[in-house]
Amino acid sequence: MRNNMHIIPINQWKEYNQRPLVIAGPCSAETESQVLETARQLKAEGKTDVYRAGVWKPRTRPNSFEGVGSDALPWLRRVQQETGIPVTVEVANAKHVYEALKYNITLLWLGARTTANPFAVQEIAGALKGADVGILIKNPVNPDIELWYGAVERIYAAGISKIGLVHRGFSTYDKSIFRNLPQWQIPIEMKSRLPEVAMINDPSHIGGKRELLGEIAQKAMDLNFDGLMIESHVNPGEAWSDAGQQITPEELTTLLENLVLRNPDVNKPELLESLSELRGKIDEIDDRLLCLLEKRMQIARSIGEYKKKNNMSVLQNKRWEEIIYKNIEKGKQKGLSREFINRLFKAIHQESINHQIKILNRQENTVSVKS
Ligand code: PEP
Ligand code: MN
Repeated sequence: MRNNMHIIPINQWKEYNQRPLVIAGPCSAETESQVLETARQLKAEGKTDVYRAGVWKPRTRPNSFEGVGSDALPWLRRVQQETGIPVTVEVANAKHVYEALKYNITLLWLGARTTANPFAVQEIAGALKGADVGILIKNPVNPDIELWYGAVERIYAAGISKIGLVHRGFSTYDKSIFRNLPQWQIPIEMKSRLPEVAMINDPSHIGGKRELLGEIAQKAMDLNFDGLMIESHVNPGEAWSDAGQQITPEELTTLLENLVLRNPDVNKPELLESLSELRGKIDEIDDRLLCLLEKRMQIARSIGEYKKKNNMSVLQNKRWEEIIYKNIEKGKQKGLSREFINRLFKAIHQESINHQIKILNRQENTVSVKS
């Protein structure tokens, strides 16, 4: 689907044309000295294009630190004045927008919980009318691409054409090594729907742990993301929010220097040739996977007939647990993650159940027509 919005690509906004664009700074603004000291160190390291800090913090549970509020805005203005690094803050309602604009903050971001709430996005869009600001829109907490896209449409409709996206992962009930599952296919699809819009990866909120940041950031670079938003704090262990995932400005430099930025010359014919050979192999395997799935569903339908005839229920929990356990074990030996096998087989199982239920219903209808 082609979009008919005319969003200005981030490399054409005047101060944000570096690639990858690095947005760094603490999860929360805590004190004036923490904000300024972090900014000074980031400036000295020389890798930060935009300084981030949360002033109003949306916390999952009450009684957590909810941000200093507007009192922190003069500190951020000092960061801009002293370091020359532009600042960005999260806004979650109209009042936040008016406050941030009062302090000349011209890059704002919508947090994941806000993007998930169309009322809040609409209210913010109303407050933004006529303002010359850039807006970064984080993905919603739930893996709903339409909700993410809808937030872009609402902000665009308010006359804002400097829009960027931030991929921060998706909430999950299942245990995972990630704090928020990356579900890379969602930002990839979003990027194909909005090719001109910058896609920035936020390894901090995906990983939830310092140790994971490097590999997530590398993956984002391999997938051609346009930038990174990484939480950095002068004293991460003592941070008032998200202490486990923040890194010092010096550690940020190491992380960024270790990134491999692959930018092959796509016009070299020999590179394209080997790539298309490998892509051909992938296409062939995908065809085979589809044929196998088709066969599996045929068998599921036969099982449906059998269960109907013998008056058995569609869902046999014990059998399902056996399948998943067995395949997780086998997958492990083949280097496939537990999380992947779990999701893959859950999806296959759901499709089998749908086929079986269709069979049961069709037979019931036939009976009722005859009688
Ligand atoms: C944040 O950036 O500190 C934050 C609250 O992020 P998210 O909206 O991704 O949870
Ligand atoms: Mn945070």
